[in-house]
Amino acid sequence: MRFSDFYAPTLKEAPSDSDIKSYELLIRGGFIRKISSGVYSYLPLGWKVIRKIESIVREEMENIGSQEIMLPIIHPAELWKMTGRWDDYGPELMKLKDRHDREFTLGPTHEEIVTFLMKNELRSYKQLPLNVFQIATKFRDEIRPRFGVLRAREFIMKDAYTFHTNYDSLRDYYMKFYQAYENILKRIGAKYVVVEADTGAIGGSFSHEFHVLAKNGEGRIFYCEECGYAASDEKAKSKEKFIPDESEPIKEIQKVDTKEAKTIEEVSKFLEISKDKLIKSILLKSNNGWVMALIRGDYEINVAKLRTILQDQTIDIAEAEEVYKKFKLNVGNIGPINIPEDIKIVADLSIKSIKNGVIGAMEEKKHYINATPYQDFRIDLMEDIRYIKEGEKCPNESCDSILKLTKGIEVGQIFELGNKYSSKMAALFTDEDGKQKPYIMGCYGWGVSRTLGAVVEQLNDENGILWPKSIAPFEVAIIPVTMNDMNIVETSEKIYNYLQQRGMDIIIDDRAVSAGIKFKDIDLIGIPLKIIIGKSLKEGKIELKLRNEEKSSLIEFNENNIEEFYHKVTEKLKDYDPTTVSNV
Ligand code: ATP
Ligand code: MG
Repeated sequence: MRFSDFYAPTLKEAPSDSDIKSYELLIRGGFIRKISSGVYSYLPLGWKVIRKIESIVREEMENIGSQEIMLPIIHPAELWKMTGRWDDYGPELMKLKDRHDREFTLGPTHEEIVTFLMKNELRSYKQLPLNVFQIATKFRDEIRPRFGVLRAREFIMKDAYTFHTNYDSLRDYYMKFYQAYENILKRIGAKYVVVEADTGAIGGSFSHEFHVLAKNGEGRIFYCEECGYAASDEKAKSKEKFIPDESEPIKEIQKVDTKEAKTIEEVSKFLEISKDKLIKSILLKSNNGWVMALIRGDYEINVAKLRTILQDQTIDIAEAEEVYKKFKLNVGNIGPINIPEDIKIVADLSIKSIKNGVIGAMEEKKHYINATPYQDFRIDLMEDIRYIKEGEKCPNESCDSILKLTKGIEVGQIFELGNKYSSKMAALFTDEDGKQKPYIMGCYGWGVSRTLGAVVEQLNDENGILWPKSIAPFEVAIIPVTMNDMNIVETSEKIYNYLQQRGMDIIIDDRAVSAGIKFKDIDLIGIPLKIIIGKSLKEGKIELKLRNEEKSSLIEFNENNIEEFYHKVTEKLKDYDPTTVSNV
């Protein structure tokens, strides 16, 4: 490709709405353009990278025998109502109506569609297992679309689905996908981690997430260096025990004035009682009503854990205004005493250590002190519903180490669904024993467009992007430092033609601009290797410079043996590892 013909509109300035480095670099490098919140166009550079990511993903899917299909984007509401997800998935669905007032959604994921499709196809155990995938556009009306293509409302996903007669077969395929996903990450060449994950609105019983490490990633990951345990923060557990102080006598509960103090911070300061003696009472709402969660003041509630425990994906922390409307109280004064009986109270294990604690009094400007769980207020369920903290003990029984925290960007997730969808949609097959049974299913998502952003987020420096070879828009850039020296121009063209004919993905910066501008743009765009053809050509030498190298190296060039030069270039590229500058 010739830069002079190529549409790569680089920009000097960061976009005014930049909220993360990768978004800034993808805009400045001329990879993407924003159309509206969470909606992007891909320019030639961006699309080239997307196509390379897609082909790695496609190859790895085909390697495990997955067959490519294409499912519709427009999903009839009835299918989503059958599984209950029309309501459960709720506001994230991009809903629309046709001219007959029939309801549809733009597909955010395709379990309903693929289950419905197969329900009419796979009738016998003889047709199972089946493994299919597609690479297509997905729509999710995210609450906060942000970070460019990392959290978009329209994005590209690879989604695969498997159908089985039994769980052994499912586990077998699940492990194949696990391996394929690791292969994808290895081939891409960014640092990554695999973690045990919460199953969220997709559901099912068993799940892993694949994260590209990045210090600005949204995914918080707890891991143990000793035994290899790794889990997303939504799922991570620890061996922390919460033991009350035996020597502390239980005192009588007492209502006290706390004036304007409402938050844990304020109440702790006002009463001069440490946060681990305070009990946070949190009201949550779901399609099934209200729930109260109690947690020690120095911890944060983990709604994902609560959703799993109560098997209700619609649970969310209630807005302060909603709470005010229902209880005529500020959230800071809410507490478990005098809360209506029909509101279930779920307490975190951390509450176990509290005697004589502080709780909201269900009265403006009042709290109780010396409140003791079970004695002074009811608890219906005590479970782990908190986010653990760095430094807590590894949950593996046989491990004595502690957990560390790192950050990543989730690029893929795999789920064992079991019969969650097939049973609700009556998607049955006849088994060997002649009985009708729902399919056992797995589903496997990969964020193709998110991968574009995630890799940039990990691999960048002050000059721009450092693409790994496998997905770089071009592997090599040829830079004639001037277009006014015929020798330089002709040699550059010769090398360009030769390397291209040898199958290299290559761009020649043949623009009539200064060498400085060329270097800046090529580095911003993130090409792994620059072949710089300049003054030293007179001495029969050409400069090679990897994107992460401080200094270039001079290579002998003999125009009668360009093949030899080609080998030197490929040798040089072999050494290239952009993760030396990774931002993890
Ligand atoms: P997240 O927790 O980040 O919202 P998710 O767990 O809801 O993602 P999945 O349902 O597991 O996402 O979807 C499979 C993959 O699709 C994700 O691993 C991610 O790479 C990608 N993906 C999901 N939501 C988005 C989005 N809004 N923008 C871009 N990619 C996305
Ligand atoms: Mg996910």
